[in-house]
Amino acid sequence: MDIITLDLDFQNLPQIIASYLIVGPAGPVLVESGPASTYMNLRAGLSQHGFKITDVKHVLVTHIHLDHAGAAGRLAQEGAQIYVHKVGAPHLIDPSRLLTSAGRIYGDKMDILWGETVPAPADRVKAVADGDVLNVAGLQFTALNTPGHAWHHHTYRLGNVAFTGDAAGIQIPETDLVELPAPPPEFKLEVWEQSIDRLLAENFEAIYPTHFGRLNNPVGQLEGLQTILRQAAEFVRVRMESGQDRETIVEAYVAWIQSKARAAGLSEYTIKQLNTVNPLYMSADGIMHFWRRVAAKQK
Ligand SMILES: [Zn+2]
Repeated sequence: MDIITLDLDFQNLPQIIASYLIVGPAGPVLVESGPASTYMNLRAGLSQHGFKITDVKHVLVTHIHLDHAGAAGRLAQEGAQIYVHKVGAPHLIDPSRLLTSAGRIYGDKMDILWGETVPAPADRVKAVADGDVLNVAGLQFTALNTPGHAWHHHTYRLGNVAFTGDAAGIQIPETDLVELPAPPPEFKLEVWEQSIDRLLAENFEAIYPTHFGRLNNPVGQLEGLQTILRQAAEFVRVRMESGQDRETIVEAYVAWIQSKARAAGLSEYTIKQLNTVNPLYMSADGIMHFWRRVAAKQK
């Protein structure tokens, strides 16, 4: 069995969004379709490895966010079966609510970033639950519920490796930088921490975050995520408690994360591009939303 990282060249930037091609005894499987905007790059990547789009009969997506599953509808229309968390399944069949919610974050950049997200035929979408074993193309994947970044998020275990979607955070290749994607309204600190514990307990030999590429040190990545998760939550909480407004907090948060990125050696260009796929204001808003909900519950 081979696991091949297809670089979808998102916005012409290398190593931002991956789709994983796993060649099983009975054919190819994809983990993550990538966005609709990189469908042609996905097709080109498959063809480099001798496959056509229509050869792909099974696509597992970790969650329904557009950078992970935006092209799933098109692949389904071409005949693939899509495997997705049961809560996410209806949103692949009818993406309208998903697109409205993404529109709130990305505004007029929706089309250029994500392309045309089309519905998947209902009979091509298989709803998956925690612990389900998927026997596809002669391979066995196990779905592990790993919420926190999203309410509905699966990690897929294959042997002693795993495809972690966003649950293990974002890793910028050739750096030790772990980035935190914390979108409102879904980000939940303590739920994500539980998911990290679950992933650590699995003792994977390697993990494959969607952003980006195989990591041979899962513990380092997961502990790095734990650290940034706590630091970021605290950074925002302290400022909210001292009465700072949203704009001030966002500005401080962006400056803080960008200084970490510069310290890790990222170019200004890469920082800017990363900010398009994982806007820093989005995570600041996600964390503020989380704390407001915590406060509302305590009243
Ligand atoms: Zn996501």
